[in-house]
Amino acid sequence: MSLLLEGGEKPPDPDAIPQPEPRGCRPLLTLAEITPGRYVDTVARVSSLSAVERCDRLGVKIVYCGQLEDRTFRVPFICHNTTHPLERNCVYKIVSAYVHEFRDRRLILILTEYSRICPKQVDGVMEYVWMPRIGSIPRPVSDVTLEGIISKIYSASGLVKRCNLCKMVIRDICPKGCGSGWSWDFRISSNLYDGSGAIRTVFSRQIAAALVGRSLTEILFLANTAPHKPPAAGSELITYSLKLPREFDVVECVAGDVSTIRSRELPLVTEGLTVAYLPCGSEVPKGLLEACPKKIDPREPNGVKIVRRLIEKTLEYKIKGVTGKPLTQGIYLLDDPIPLYGCEQAKLYVGFSARVILHEGEARVEAQPKVVIRESVWDYVKWRRSRGASAEAVEKTLKHYRSIITLSPYGQLGHIETLLFKKAGEQATSDRDPRSLVEFWRSVYGVYVEPNETPLLKVRLMGCEALFTYPPSTAYFDESVIYVNSAAKRLAEAKSRSLSSRVKAVLNKALHSFAVGSCALHPTSLEQVGLDAQTLLLSDINHRLLGRFIRARGRIVQLRDQLCFFPQRVMEVK
Ligand SMILES: [Zn+2]
Repeated sequence: MSLLLEGGEKPPDPDAIPQPEPRGCRPLLTLAEITPGRYVDTVARVSSLSAVERCDRLGVKIVYCGQLEDRTFRVPFICHNTTHPLERNCVYKIVSAYVHEFRDRRLILILTEYSRICPKQVDGVMEYVWMPRIGSIPRPVSDVTLEGIISKIYSASGLVKRCNLCKMVIRDICPKGCGSGWSWDFRISSNLYDGSGAIRTVFSRQIAAALVGRSLTEILFLANTAPHKPPAAGSELITYSLKLPREFDVVECVAGDVSTIRSRELPLVTEGLTVAYLPCGSEVPKGLLEACPKKIDPREPNGVKIVRRLIEKTLEYKIKGVTGKPLTQGIYLLDDPIPLYGCEQAKLYVGFSARVILHEGEARVEAQPKVVIRESVWDYVKWRRSRGASAEAVEKTLKHYRSIITLSPYGQLGHIETLLFKKAGEQATSDRDPRSLVEFWRSVYGVYVEPNETPLLKVRLMGCEALFTYPPSTAYFDESVIYVNSAAKRLAEAKSRSLSSRVKAVLNKALHSFAVGSCALHPTSLEQVGLDAQTLLLSDINHRLLGRFIRARGRIVQLRDQLCFFPQRVMEVK
């Protein structure tokens, strides 16, 4: 009963709903297909059941309440017709049930005295068990278990201000004009992705605190004081601020397909298929339809994006110039990868990640020291092969057990959808780009891909619909799926101890007289470590959750135009 009446809204009585048409023709629908305000027929399993006493002027009356399930969805029901005793876990054909929609878009099936319920013989109930997949959930559900990867953390995570009256997350003043002030709250707003789709997932304060491994008291203490204590190892954030010029001089390039002019010598950012921007003063590549100078305002929304990417790109070149080492999996390496003994073919990568945030006339460069254990898919495939694994066995592992990968050079997360048993040297980059994958990676990223690498990976990037083809040496498994022994863990810890001073030394050089083309960006503040509570906590959240596998149970509700998942219990994080 509690499931049924959650939200406090009661389903209507049978006499308050429209009567069925006497000989109406009803479609036989799955539970995901039913729509409100009409009578339907369906075949479903009773997955939970209780009998409840109701009273009216004729006296006591029994009704059944519970949930119906098929392989597409789960819907609660209330059954006034008790001539057939229902049983849990049995499958029934239900004829003429009314579909009612609550205000929050949840549905309930109302079975009246005119509905018919016939037991249905089935070979097994598995056909009538709902295994939720994010992409096919049609409506709010009160209790569901979802699993997937946290593919994005929204910036409205961590410490947020909440209006004291309407409880909305606000900036400083409630836009509804409540005027009751605000209080600190802590939450995580993210996307959960399971291969079929993504859903906005919001972890409330208790769960969010547990996920970052801090108590709520500690978090609220951090929020209300402004500590300048050194942060714990692993959550260090080294930041620099640079002053943005009023406008940026760039060269706007137009080509039939700008991806073909990308090369590792050019700090170029692309905008769609045909437009690209270069810092002013760079050598303009051949094969353009048009190239003209342009001024971009870094305060204007579209300008922000272009300027941020141009700064990131320039920073990438400067850092590589200092270290002489590549960017791989989103990490600027400081040492050559260190092979690990007895951890499959995994290596230790030591370096740092860096990103640029444009805010209030400044470009903030945030760097995070990183020591990670990763294994390239190519090394793994060769290792499995050397032990005698068949192509089928390798394919099964890659598609089912190790499908989540980190990609080079920028460290995006991806999901292996299928494999292509072809060699990297024989495969064209795309329909539009005839260069082989080997040639493409060499000329665009300066990365050596062996011509005989196989199988090629068809990868879906998180938060993106298109599939891309990656050679296996450019995709990496992380620590969560590799067996890592304690010697390797100790080595990683030792490497991380002295790392932040090395990162600062590199960035001090890379940001010295920093300029994008002819536009100089002067530093407004020297390097700082662990700025404020919010930056620290947000960096913690990213560090602990982004790209992790999560299994959680909770409810799905409709918020404006999208479904949101609110976990009440997190069963697994890995
Ligand atoms: Zn308010």
